[in-house]
Amino acid sequence: MCFHLCMRTLLVTGGAGFIGSNFIDDVLSNDDDVRVVCYDKLGAGSSVKTLSVLAKWGRFTFVKGDIADEEAVERLFASFPFDALVNFAAESHVDRSITDPLTFVRSNVMGVAVLLDACLRHGVKRFHQVSTDEVYGDTPIESCELFTEASVLRPSSPYSASKASADLLCLSYWRTYGLDVTITRCGNNYGRWQHYEKLIPHMIINSHLGRPLPIYGDGHNVRDWIAVGDHCRAIGLVLEKGCSGEVYNVGSDDLLSNLEVVDRILSLVGRGRELVTFVPDRPGHDRRYALDSTKLRSLGWAPQVPFDEGLASTVSFYLDNEDWWREQLP
Ligand code: NAD
Repeated sequence: MCFHLCMRTLLVTGGAGFIGSNFIDDVLSNDDDVRVVCYDKLGAGSSVKTLSVLAKWGRFTFVKGDIADEEAVERLFASFPFDALVNFAAESHVDRSITDPLTFVRSNVMGVAVLLDACLRHGVKRFHQVSTDEVYGDTPIESCELFTEASVLRPSSPYSASKASADLLCLSYWRTYGLDVTITRCGNNYGRWQHYEKLIPHMIINSHLGRPLPIYGDGHNVRDWIAVGDHCRAIGLVLEKGCSGEVYNVGSDDLLSNLEVVDRILSLVGRGRELVTFVPDRPGHDRRYALDSTKLRSLGWAPQVPFDEGLASTVSFYLDNEDWWREQLP
């Protein structure tokens, strides 16, 4: 992965979480000229164990803080000459957004506004916002519709509404102030370093431990599953070649229902369906997401990891690294 030559000091907000930490590891292992500062409040989804792995890189610095804290963000920007910012920081669990929506608005909307403003004042050359396919809402399961970047934003949950709001704020800073902004909207990621609360690690760990596997509703909800490394490569490419003011969908076309994903995990772990427990559906639960990524593919990106291969290596990661996830269990 290579950035513009001028992009030497990269601020990665939310880099102690799942995708951000994979992205940092990817950047530092591929580009000797880049130095990364990770800023994270160490909230839900974060892992200090992952940070200790990233600390092996001499070009990595961690600063603890909240993106919605204007004074702390100002101190951060005054301390480093950032060339670009990639924002992963967000409250990311849909279930928690239903019980505690205001926390999501604070981090995911106010936090992004604080970062955009700081980038403008400090002359940061590019702001990249990591967004989600959930901003488009859903389609019926039987639909063949693919969301394009021009699809209407119709978010269903407080989480996806906060992410859609952040996207609109980013685009307003591009149009009004000329800030160089890009956005990627990705499907469901899976891979190493994802917190136990999310579907795939939850199902791998619970099936390994012989615990129940709770599945919402009928389990037929369809998601566009992508290996985290493919997502990180897409973000790197958009940083390097994406046009300012543009949005890029990141989808793998691996459309699978939750039940299909769980069946594959059970077979990889060597367990049977008897662990599956159907639980009452999540309010407003989206039925199907599917993305058209033609625009990103025209920049030269294509997913490299087939779902079955990526899932097998993800299962191996969790089975081989119990001390990474043990303390996350309730
Ligand atoms: P995650 O929950 O694993 O990590 C989020 C990180 O952000 C955590 O380390 C958390 O401490 C930090 N954070 C949250 N609020 C903060 C704040 N106010 N200040 C500083 N740090 C804060 O989430 P993830 O799965 O790695 O997702 C990263 C980004 O990618 C999010 O913006 C999410 O909306 C987006 N996204 C995720 C997926 C997915 O499948 N996981 C798909 C598409 C887009």
